[in-house]
Amino acid sequence: MEKNKFYITTAIDYTNGKPHIGHVFEKVLTDVIARYHREKGDDVFFLTGSDEHGTKMELLAKEKGVAPKVLVDENVKAFMAMKEKYNLSYDRFIRTTDEDHIQASQELWRRCKAKGDIYLKKYQGLYCAGCESFKKESDLVDGKCLEHDCKPEVVEEENWFFKLSNYKNQIKDLIEKDEIKIIPEHRKKEVLNVLEEIEDFSISRPKEKVGWGIEVPDDPTHNMYVWFDALTNYISGLGWPNDMEKFNAFWPTVTHVIGKDITRFHAIYWPAMLLSGGVQPPKNILIHGFVTSGGKKMSKSTGNVVDPEEALSRYGADALRYFLIREIPTTEDGDFTFEKFDARYESDLANSLGNLVSRVTNIVEKNNIEFQNQDLRIDIKNESEEYRFDKVLEKIWEKVHEANKYVDDEKPWAIKDNPEKLNEVMNNLLNSIKSIGEALKPFMPETSEKILKIFESEKIVKAEPLFPKKLNT
Ligand SMILES: [Zn+2]
Repeated sequence: MEKNKFYITTAIDYTNGKPHIGHVFEKVLTDVIARYHREKGDDVFFLTGSDEHGTKMELLAKEKGVAPKVLVDENVKAFMAMKEKYNLSYDRFIRTTDEDHIQASQELWRRCKAKGDIYLKKYQGLYCAGCESFKKESDLVDGKCLEHDCKPEVVEEENWFFKLSNYKNQIKDLIEKDEIKIIPEHRKKEVLNVLEEIEDFSISRPKEKVGWGIEVPDDPTHNMYVWFDALTNYISGLGWPNDMEKFNAFWPTVTHVIGKDITRFHAIYWPAMLLSGGVQPPKNILIHGFVTSGGKKMSKSTGNVVDPEEALSRYGADALRYFLIREIPTTEDGDFTFEKFDARYESDLANSLGNLVSRVTNIVEKNNIEFQNQDLRIDIKNESEEYRFDKVLEKIWEKVHEANKYVDDEKPWAIKDNPEKLNEVMNNLLNSIKSIGEALKPFMPETSEKILKIFESEKIVKAEPLFPKKLNT
């Protein structure tokens, strides 16, 4: 039987700095979903990448006295390195400076233009370079963009506009019917509200203002607005418009995983661009929250920025993956502090799971217990399909605690003179550990592999400690 296809994407990261913990959370979350689907037997295509054009990159390159391409080639390395560091299983890393992406963006533009949805207009507005978007007076506080704490510049220019108004009703209808499914429900309501006040939007900048971008087809005086370019990665990364066989197989199954700050671009602008270009709009948009620290938004001025490298070096990728998914509910904000991270490492990982595996395999080795596979499974389907991965981990850890309690209750060291009973108790424990190892595959791939390896040898021996690192105190 042919496998079900499953296509999943992350947002593409802007390469003007280094990856932060929010980037890591989104990639790990998406990786968990991709791995879950592979375990289910789906044929998965997982795309991530980098957003490399626009004013911010151009200015930064100027500051450093290098060409923008030289800067992005350097900066993208840290983002590509996330694959190995955090054990991400994506299939392609797309860069918006990739030739096939540039071609695809121009092709989508041509199709929207041919449809009559792109027109030239003189425009005056307030432009925030930080947001890479025009602001309304009503978006500003004391004349400043809240997000960037700076006054947007008054910009008067002739730009290409996209007729979003042509698609407003159609998109409203698709969202209401869940044909574009926005998860969670309260974000769907937000989008429907925002949709009411949406207007045509500018999709170009004059080259003299923004020189670092993809050129507008048949207009050498303009570059594409970064969002038009960036959003197109979701189809160019899948081979559109060249590899239509692959595209047609995967695209109808797409799930975009994005942060709550870029909802309107993905749930309104992007579907409209696709409809105009004759491409089906996205199926699912999963919107996650932010990683806070100490209950506050991370910022340099508050001094509560969590460096993912520091978190990684403390206990390795699996522990960090565990913490992020356990502590941050998929669609809400969640908190990262090193105190909480240390506490979970110690209690959930080292003392509970690590201890269980080492004490059980120790007794098994000493008593020459032969493993009899019962093929137990922990059912994580419902929670996983609802993206409640925090609940999945909670459920798996209930099994860990149950197994530890079972050891304490049955006291295998005290029933050595009853080999039949000992064999039964130890096999129940081994099977429980094996089912935990299976269930952990999407979340903690290395730990899962180590646990399942125990069962591959003829004779089970005491396992190496799963979490050997001591607390950093
Ligand atoms: Zn801004």
